[in-house]
Amino acid sequence: LASWVGFSNLPNQVHRRSMRRGFNFTAMVVGESGLGKSTLINTLFETKLYEPKQIPAPGVDRGRTVQIESISADIEENGVRLKLTVVDTPGFGDFVNNDESWRPIVDNIEARFDAYLEQENRVNRLKLVDNRVHACIYFIQPTGHSLKPIDIEFMRRLHTKVNLIPVIAKADTLTEEEVVLSKRRVLADIAHHGIRIFQPPQYENEDEETIQENEEIISKVPFAVVGSDNIVRSPNGREVRGRAYPWGVIEVDNEEHCDFVKLRQMLVRTHMEELREHTNDILYENYRTDKLKAMGV
Ligand code: GDP
Ligand code: MG
Repeated sequence: LASWVGFSNLPNQVHRRSMRRGFNFTAMVVGESGLGKSTLINTLFETKLYEPKQIPAPGVDRGRTVQIESISADIEENGVRLKLTVVDTPGFGDFVNNDESWRPIVDNIEARFDAYLEQENRVNRLKLVDNRVHACIYFIQPTGHSLKPIDIEFMRRLHTKVNLIPVIAKADTLTEEEVVLSKRRVLADIAHHGIRIFQPPQYENEDEETIQENEEIISKVPFAVVGSDNIVRSPNGREVRGRAYPWGVIEVDNEEHCDFVKLRQMLVRTHMEELREHTNDILYENYRTDKLKAMGV
C-alpha cells in the first residue's frame, strides 16, 4: 500500500469507464528553492518518484537557467492505469536576475502543446499521447505578506496556459492567524492582478456529499501545505507523517493542521478529470487557435 495514490476513486461512473483504458496526468511544481517542492511531491504520491536530494559538490556550477526535470511512474489501482508524470523546475527564482525565470517554463508548456498539436495533424490520430501539463502547483513563500513581484510575473505569464494551483509552502512555520491572513492577502493580490487560478467548478446536479466536499476544497484555496518524508509519533502515540517540534507535532494528514489532504483530494481524486478537461478544452484549444491564426490558417 506504500504507493497508494487514490486516483481510481474518481467519483463519476462515466469517467471511470474511460479511465479503465488508462490515462496520463502531468503535474508541474514551481517555486523558489527550499520551499519544499520535492518533499511535497513525495508526500503526495508516496511512490518515491524522486531520488534523494543531490547536494552539488562545492564549485560545481548549478547552471544558470531554470532546469526542467521530468519523472514518470506507471501506477495501477483498482484496475485503473495512470501514467503519472511530475515536472520539477529547480533553479526558479535562484538567480541574481530572475526577470526571465518564467520563460523556460512557458517554453516547456508550449512545447508540450506543440507535440500534441503535431499528433492531431497526423493521418492516424488513434493513439494520441497526452504529455501536456494538467496542473501547476505554485509555491508561495510563507512570509505572511502578499505576493512578491516574481510570483505575480510568473502567474500572469502562465495563467492562460496551465491550471495554476497556488499553495502556501511550509505552512507549519506560520501561526494559524498568519495562515488566514496570508491566504486573504494572496487571494486579494491574485484578484487585483487579474490572475486566473484553477477554479473548481461549482456543482449543482451532484449529491449533497459531493457538493459539500467540493465547497470545502474551494474554501481552502490557496492550500496551506506541509510536506514531510518522516514518520513521527503524535501525542496520542500514533505514528504519523509529520514534522516534530519542541511544542508539538504537525501532522501532514490531519486536516486541522494543514490543507495537504484537501490539495491531494483535489489533484488525484475529485478534480483530476476536470484539470485534464480544462487543459484540453480551454487552455490547449486557445493555444491552438492562436497558433493557427498566427500561421494564417
Ligand atoms: P525544494 O528545493 O523546493 O525541492 O525543497 P525541498 O523539498 O528539497 O525541501 C527543502 C528543505 O525544507 C528540506 O530540509 C525539507 O525537509 C524542508 N521542508 C520541506 N517541506 C517542508 C515543510 O512543509 N515544512 C518545513 N518546516 N520544512 C519543510
Ligand atoms: Mg527540489
